[in-house]
Amino acid sequence: MRTARLYWIDPYISDFNAKVEYINGKEVVLDGTYFYPQGGGQIYDTGTISEIRVVKVRREGDLIIHTLESEPNFQVGSVVECKVDWSRRYKIMKLHSSAHLLYYAMQEEFGEECRPASPGLTDDVKSREDYIFKEKIDLQRLRRVEEKVNTLIAANLNIHTWSEGETRYWKIEPYPPMLCGGTHPKKTGEIGAVKVSRGKKPGAGKERIEVTLLA
Ligand SMILES: [Zn+2]
Repeated sequence: MRTARLYWIDPYISDFNAKVEYINGKEVVLDGTYFYPQGGGQIYDTGTISEIRVVKVRREGDLIIHTLESEPNFQVGSVVECKVDWSRRYKIMKLHSSAHLLYYAMQEEFGEECRPASPGLTDDVKSREDYIFKEKIDLQRLRRVEEKVNTLIAANLNIHTWSEGETRYWKIEPYPPMLCGGTHPKKTGEIGAVKVSRGKKPGAGKERIEVTLLA
Protein backbone atom coordinates (compact mmCIF):
# COMPACT_ATOMS: atom_id res chain seq x y z
CA MET A 1 0.00 0.00 0.00
CA ARG A 2 1.22 3.47 -0.88
CA THR A 3 -0.49 6.87 -0.86
CA ALA A 4 0.09 8.97 -3.99
CA ARG A 5 1.36 12.39 -2.85
CA LEU A 6 -0.86 14.42 -5.15
CA TYR A 7 -0.03 17.74 -3.42
CA TRP A 8 3.32 17.57 -5.18
CA ILE A 9 1.67 17.20 -8.59
CA ASP A 10 -0.63 20.20 -8.10
CA PRO A 11 -0.49 22.12 -4.81
CA TYR A 12 -3.47 24.27 -5.89
CA ILE A 13 -6.05 21.47 -5.83
CA SER A 14 -8.18 21.42 -2.68
CA ASP A 15 -11.34 19.52 -3.70
CA PHE A 16 -10.93 15.93 -4.89
CA ASN A 17 -12.33 12.40 -4.77
CA ALA A 18 -10.27 9.45 -3.58
CA LYS A 19 -10.68 5.77 -2.83
CA VAL A 20 -10.43 4.60 0.77
CA GLU A 21 -7.67 2.01 1.14
CA TYR A 22 -7.60 1.44 4.91
CA ILE A 23 -9.45 2.45 8.07
CA ASN A 24 -8.34 2.01 11.68
CA GLY A 25 -10.69 3.72 14.13
CA LYS A 26 -10.64 7.40 13.16
CA GLU A 27 -7.57 6.97 10.91
CA VAL A 28 -8.03 6.83 7.15
CA VAL A 29 -5.64 6.06 4.28
CA LEU A 30 -6.62 7.06 0.74
CA ASP A 31 -5.15 5.87 -2.59
CA GLY A 32 -3.92 9.43 -3.16
CA THR A 33 -4.21 12.70 -1.27
CA TYR A 34 -3.84 16.44 -1.62
CA PHE A 35 -3.70 16.77 2.19
CA TYR A 36 -0.16 17.72 3.22
CA PRO A 37 1.15 15.67 6.18
CA GLN A 38 3.26 17.35 8.86
CA GLY A 39 6.93 17.43 7.88
CA GLY A 40 9.77 19.46 6.43
CA GLY A 41 8.96 22.43 8.62
CA GLN A 42 5.40 22.73 7.35
CA ILE A 43 2.30 21.93 9.43
CA TYR A 44 -0.33 19.42 8.24
CA ASP A 45 -3.46 20.44 6.35
CA THR A 46 -6.96 20.36 7.77
CA GLY A 47 -10.29 20.06 5.93
CA THR A 48 -12.92 17.35 5.52
CA ILE A 49 -13.28 13.81 4.19
CA SER A 50 -16.90 12.90 3.48
CA GLU A 51 -17.84 16.02 5.49
CA ILE A 52 -16.01 14.79 8.63
CA ARG A 53 -13.28 17.13 9.93
CA VAL A 54 -9.70 16.10 9.28
CA VAL A 55 -7.88 17.12 12.47
CA LYS A 56 -4.38 15.88 11.71
CA VAL A 57 -2.38 14.39 8.83
CA ARG A 58 0.88 12.52 9.19
CA ARG A 59 3.14 10.37 7.06
CA GLU A 60 4.30 6.88 8.04
CA GLY A 61 6.64 5.45 5.42
CA ASP A 62 4.71 5.30 2.14
CA LEU A 63 1.37 6.03 3.79
CA ILE A 64 -0.33 9.31 4.54
CA ILE A 65 -2.69 8.92 7.49
CA HIS A 66 -5.63 11.31 7.98
CA THR A 67 -7.06 11.47 11.51
CA LEU A 68 -10.76 12.33 11.56
CA GLU A 69 -12.70 14.06 14.33
CA SER A 70 -15.15 11.13 14.50
CA GLU A 71 -15.50 7.55 13.20
CA PRO A 72 -15.83 7.36 9.40
CA ASN A 73 -19.29 7.08 7.80
CA PHE A 74 -17.75 5.14 4.87
CA GLN A 75 -15.94 1.85 4.26
CA VAL A 76 -12.74 0.62 2.66
CA GLY A 77 -13.32 0.72 -1.10
CA SER A 78 -15.64 3.77 -0.89
CA VAL A 79 -14.90 6.79 -3.07
CA VAL A 80 -15.08 9.82 -0.79
CA GLU A 81 -15.31 13.58 -1.33
CA CYS A 82 -12.34 15.38 0.19
CA LYS A 83 -11.76 19.10 0.78
CA VAL A 84 -8.54 20.66 2.00
CA ASP A 85 -9.15 23.92 3.92
CA TRP A 86 -7.77 26.03 1.10
CA SER A 87 -7.56 29.48 2.73
CA ARG A 88 -5.50 27.95 5.56
CA ARG A 89 -3.29 25.89 3.22
CA TYR A 90 -2.66 28.83 0.86
CA LYS A 91 -1.43 30.95 3.79
CA ILE A 92 0.83 28.06 4.86
CA MET A 93 2.19 27.75 1.29
CA LYS A 94 2.99 31.47 1.18
CA LEU A 95 4.56 31.58 4.64
CA HIS A 96 6.50 28.36 4.07
CA SER A 97 7.95 29.74 0.83
CA SER A 98 8.85 33.01 2.51
CA ALA A 99 10.92 30.92 4.98
CA HIS A 100 13.05 29.83 1.98
CA LEU A 101 13.47 33.48 0.96
CA LEU A 102 14.35 34.37 4.56
CA TYR A 103 17.13 31.77 4.48
CA TYR A 104 18.74 33.41 1.41
CA ALA A 105 18.31 36.91 2.82
CA MET A 106 19.83 35.88 6.18
CA GLN A 107 22.79 34.34 4.34
CA GLU A 108 23.31 37.51 2.31
CA GLU A 109 23.02 39.87 5.27
CA PHE A 110 24.73 37.90 8.03
CA GLY A 111 26.81 35.32 6.11
CA GLU A 112 29.03 33.35 8.51
CA GLU A 113 27.70 35.28 11.52
CA CYS A 114 24.68 33.01 11.78
CA ARG A 115 23.53 29.56 10.76
CA PRO A 116 20.18 27.76 10.90
CA ALA A 117 19.53 25.84 14.14
CA SER A 118 16.77 23.23 14.43
CA PRO A 119 14.26 23.06 11.54
CA GLY A 120 11.62 25.77 11.77
CA LEU A 121 7.88 25.40 11.69
CA THR A 122 5.37 27.18 9.51
CA ASP A 123 1.66 27.21 10.22
CA ASP A 124 -1.07 29.48 8.85
CA VAL A 125 -0.10 32.35 11.20
CA LYS A 126 3.67 32.59 10.99
CA SER A 127 6.90 30.95 9.98
CA ARG A 128 9.38 30.49 12.85
CA GLU A 129 13.04 29.89 12.00
CA ASP A 130 15.78 29.53 14.62
CA TYR A 131 19.32 30.71 13.92
CA ILE A 132 22.50 30.40 15.94
CA PHE A 133 24.24 33.77 16.16
CA LYS A 134 27.88 34.40 16.97
CA GLU A 135 27.13 37.95 18.17
CA LYS A 136 24.08 39.80 19.42
CA ILE A 137 21.63 40.31 16.55
CA ASP A 138 21.61 43.81 15.03
CA LEU A 139 17.97 44.76 14.51
CA GLN A 140 18.85 47.36 11.85
CA ARG A 141 20.33 44.52 9.82
CA LEU A 142 17.20 42.44 10.40
CA ARG A 143 15.26 45.31 8.73
CA ARG A 144 17.55 44.85 5.71
CA VAL A 145 16.72 41.13 5.74
CA GLU A 146 13.02 42.03 5.61
CA GLU A 147 13.70 44.37 2.67
CA LYS A 148 15.58 41.62 0.82
CA VAL A 149 12.77 39.12 1.35
CA ASN A 150 10.23 41.64 0.08
CA THR A 151 12.45 42.44 -2.91
CA LEU A 152 12.55 38.73 -3.85
CA ILE A 153 8.75 38.62 -3.51
CA ALA A 154 8.24 41.78 -5.58
CA ALA A 155 10.51 40.36 -8.32
CA ASN A 156 7.76 37.72 -8.83
CA LEU A 157 10.31 34.97 -9.48
CA ASN A 158 9.30 31.53 -10.74
CA ILE A 159 9.42 28.86 -8.03
CA HIS A 160 10.58 25.55 -9.48
CA THR A 161 9.93 22.26 -7.65
CA TRP A 162 10.77 18.78 -8.86
CA SER A 163 11.48 15.19 -7.77
CA GLU A 164 14.62 13.13 -8.17
CA GLY A 165 13.72 9.67 -6.93
CA GLU A 166 12.22 10.19 -3.46
CA THR A 167 13.83 13.59 -3.03
CA ARG A 168 12.05 16.89 -3.72
CA TYR A 169 13.82 20.09 -4.64
CA TRP A 170 12.95 23.79 -4.54
CA LYS A 171 14.69 26.50 -6.56
CA ILE A 172 14.49 30.14 -7.51
CA GLU A 173 17.09 31.83 -9.70
CA PRO A 174 19.94 32.63 -9.09
CA TYR A 175 20.15 30.58 -5.87
CA PRO A 176 21.23 26.93 -5.66
CA PRO A 177 18.46 24.34 -5.18
CA MET A 178 17.28 23.43 -1.67
CA LEU A 179 15.83 20.13 -0.50
CA CYS A 180 12.15 20.58 0.29
CA GLY A 181 9.06 18.39 0.17
CA GLY A 182 6.67 21.18 1.16
CA THR A 183 4.03 22.95 -0.92
CA HIS A 184 4.75 26.24 -2.67
CA PRO A 185 3.03 28.77 -4.93
CA LYS A 186 4.20 29.05 -8.55
CA LYS A 187 5.63 32.56 -8.18
CA THR A 188 7.10 34.53 -5.29
CA GLY A 189 4.73 37.43 -6.03
CA GLU A 190 1.82 35.36 -4.72
CA ILE A 191 3.28 35.64 -1.21
CA GLY A 192 2.53 39.38 -1.02
CA ALA A 193 4.47 41.59 1.40
CA VAL A 194 5.80 40.09 4.63
CA LYS A 195 7.00 41.32 8.00
CA VAL A 196 10.21 39.87 9.45
CA SER A 197 10.59 40.17 13.21
CA ARG A 198 12.50 38.85 16.13
CA GLY A 199 10.54 36.28 18.15
CA LYS A 200 10.96 34.98 21.69
CA LYS A 201 14.56 33.88 22.22
CA PRO A 202 14.65 30.08 21.91
CA GLY A 203 17.89 29.67 23.91
CA ALA A 204 21.35 31.06 24.57
CA GLY A 205 23.13 32.14 21.39
CA LYS A 206 19.98 31.60 19.36
CA GLU A 207 17.44 33.91 17.80
CA ARG A 208 13.98 33.08 16.51
CA ILE A 209 13.11 34.96 13.34
CA GLU A 210 9.42 35.11 12.52
CA VAL A 211 7.73 35.89 9.23
CA THR A 212 4.11 36.97 8.96
CA LEU A 213 1.99 37.95 5.95
CA LEU A 214 1.00 41.61 5.71
CA ALA A 215 -1.91 41.05 3.33
ZN1 LIG B 1 9.70 24.41 0.83
